[in-house]
Amino acid sequence: MLNKYKTQNSRARSWLRKITETPRALWIRNALCSLCLLALFAVASPAATLPPWSEGHLDIHHINTGFGESAFYILPDGTSLLVDAGVSNAKRPWRAEARPDASRSAGEYLARYILRALDGAPAKTIHYAMLSHFHEDHMGAVNKKTPDSRTGPYKASGITEIPDFVPIAKIIDGLYPDYDGPGGPWHDPKMNNYEKFLKWQMKNKGLAAERFKVGVNNQIVLLNAPQKYPGFEIRNLAARGVVWTGKDGQTRDVFAGVPDNQKRENKSSIAFRLTYGKFKWFTGGDLDCRGVDTIPDLTPDIETAVAEICGHVDAMKANHHGNYDANSVALLRLLSPRAIVIDTWGASQPCMNIWRRLKDKSVWPGPRDIFATNVMPATALALHDEAAEVHSHVVIRVAPGGDSYTIYRVRDTDEKGVIETATGPISCGQ
Ligand SMILES: [Zn+2]
Repeated sequence: MLNKYKTQNSRARSWLRKITETPRALWIRNALCSLCLLALFAVASPAATLPPWSEGHLDIHHINTGFGESAFYILPDGTSLLVDAGVSNAKRPWRAEARPDASRSAGEYLARYILRALDGAPAKTIHYAMLSHFHEDHMGAVNKKTPDSRTGPYKASGITEIPDFVPIAKIIDGLYPDYDGPGGPWHDPKMNNYEKFLKWQMKNKGLAAERFKVGVNNQIVLLNAPQKYPGFEIRNLAARGVVWTGKDGQTRDVFAGVPDNQKRENKSSIAFRLTYGKFKWFTGGDLDCRGVDTIPDLTPDIETAVAEICGHVDAMKANHHGNYDANSVALLRLLSPRAIVIDTWGASQPCMNIWRRLKDKSVWPGPRDIFATNVMPATALALHDEAAEVHSHVVIRVAPGGDSYTIYRVRDTDEKGVIETATGPISCGQ
């Protein structure tokens, strides 16, 4: 009985050895172990997140809240620049979904994003905040439901909500201090509120305000270590129809002779060119090309005038959210960008004519990458390009010295900064 048991036992052991130690079994065992390790690793290590800004880098964050346009720059020495803080009144479903969600206002989410982006920067301050022009999707809307500011006696929306969370040192817009003067925008609740905000912040919080000076390269400068980055420049190209001539600080008025009430606000947008080493970047708010490529318009063509003086760039923000009336063939040929970011927040953005124009190599030759911040499902269908459906923050990170850059899509459904895609490094000066 005992012998029989022993024999059975040794047979069982040899069978066990056979199934566990044959080459095939060893391979399966190793594969299973690797899978377990991988699973453990996936649980233990979170997805890659965008490393914080560090000295020498230039970051341009296109922040997607679903409500409007806002770009936050951290310049190579840590000086910071916010261009627009839009919160549109437009309603769903035309407007994009609120990102990360609707539990906080878009202005608060912008400020929270900015504070996170400044991790690693010398100060949690916005040194310069600029309004490209005076539309809600760039500065915030004011209506009956707009809450009071937590800080001062004005309403909090878009740009006026930002200092409830992160201080602004200086505001630059196209008209300060004369919003009633020639070419000034209409007076409406948001403009009245903006003026109240400026006055109170200047008196009580030390805010400075300036009008954008066309033609100069010394209004937006590096504040921490300019001597370390002699190849950095922000050149003011245009505002309110006035355009740099290319000589020193000289300008010309493209809108000369146009009655004030015909000067369109979009065409009055601020445009500038940023240079960092070989890297060149163009941004021009909601400049458009009405009267050239689309519908007639009494305000003269400003896009061509601005693009002629800007010249070729590595990357650009598409004008006017990629709407049907902006980014003329002339502008695109003159800028011939390698990378394009389109700040989109509504169902007609980007529009099919512009989408096709941006992709067509007969407009300008060479490879290009296009990044829209928010293409809704219906928009992708209308574009005949279902693969275009996307939503994320888009971050351009230029390497120290400005020789190359990488473009990241960063997840916008939470605040973790998870990288969805990374494109690059792309060499500058192509
Ligand atoms: Zn706009």
